[in-house]
Amino acid sequence: MRVRLSSPDVNESDKAAVMEVLNSSALSLGPKLPEFEQMAAEVAGTRHAIAVNSGTSGLHLCVKAAGLGDGDEVITTPFSFIASANCILYERATPVFVDIDPETYNLDPKLVERAITSRTKAILPVHVFGRPCNMRALQRIAVKHGLTIIEDSCEAIGASYRGKPVGSLGDAGVFAFYPNKQITTGEGGVVVTNSDDIARQCRSMRNQGRSDGAEWLEHDVLGYNYRLSDINCALGISQLARLTEVLEARRRNAAAYHQLVSDIPGVIPPTAREPQCSISWFVYVVRLTDDCGRETRDEVLAFLRARGVECKNYFPPIHLQPLYRDRFRYSEGAFPITEHVAERTIALPFFTRLSEGQIEYVCSSLKAAVTSVRRRVLVAGAYN
Ligand SMILES: *Cc1c(COP(=O)(O)O)cnc(C)c1O
Repeated sequence: MRVRLSSPDVNESDKAAVMEVLNSSALSLGPKLPEFEQMAAEVAGTRHAIAVNSGTSGLHLCVKAAGLGDGDEVITTPFSFIASANCILYERATPVFVDIDPETYNLDPKLVERAITSRTKAILPVHVFGRPCNMRALQRIAVKHGLTIIEDSCEAIGASYRGKPVGSLGDAGVFAFYPNKQITTGEGGVVVTNSDDIARQCRSMRNQGRSDGAEWLEHDVLGYNYRLSDINCALGISQLARLTEVLEARRRNAAAYHQLVSDIPGVIPPTAREPQCSISWFVYVVRLTDDCGRETRDEVLAFLRARGVECKNYFPPIHLQPLYRDRFRYSEGAFPITEHVAERTIALPFFTRLSEGQIEYVCSSLKAAVTSVRRRVLVAGAYN
């Protein structure tokens, strides 16, 4: 058996929706764009949604719209996909990493407060793996110090924090629609915000710096082509229409995994969450117990792959990526909790249409992998 790490769920009505656009002449800036944005705004419960061609583009526009630039410090997490830190570098601002909570893997608010300096302008929390951050604590810190919050909600569409959708809890939030996300537009993203000013700026900047109602060749500010085509928007509309079902199916898959993974010695299933929160299951990431290290984890990955089970080491810490080591002189030990977690985590195959049989196969393979690798490593250790 071969089980993929992720797989987009594209059905016949998705295909029909895309064909409908292709049969029209409005391939970009047509009617599907506002329709998609309206739906995204409803998911986030925000006044505005601005569709863009990727989650990364959306984050970049938020950083610009927040006025972040040279010398400004932005507090963020090293345990994430690299785009959440790179978007700060695009504007020559400085990402200031702080370590994570060892259970939720999200920014630890206590460490955020300690990292604030006179140059701190914003916090960029990431709801990693679809689990909401402790937003109440982050909001308190932001208010106290006059900071902007940009929520990287790219992995968390549909998750909620104390009854409110993620994406609506800061000044602006971003969802992403790459094919491994909960729902997809092929490539794509959307900025959601209640701020009229941020919305206006993002709308202009995604479209070459044109202002609303301006002539096509009139450009007020430095802009980009970050537009999302109507082809992508049509796919997004069709996918968003079944977001509730998709998230429910993923919740069931996570529950099925939980039951089986809980019985495997040496493997910790994901359990932690902030109070009164709902998770939007993006990936299913287990962790090996503390007596195993990175080498053990990597052997488990290799064992699983040999059995046809795709898996990944989500996430290697951002500060240890070559770009960040070179630029900021980071090395091992800088963020010990992030590194400890990152050395032991394994993302298992996870997508909406994962079958029970596939989950059983993955878990029996994981059990065999961990048993065999641990036996060998622990025995070797006893003789060292
Ligand atoms: C997917 C993702 C993004 C954006 O990705 P794109 O591929 O640009 O759409 C940003 N941050 C995080 C944490 C992500 O997982």
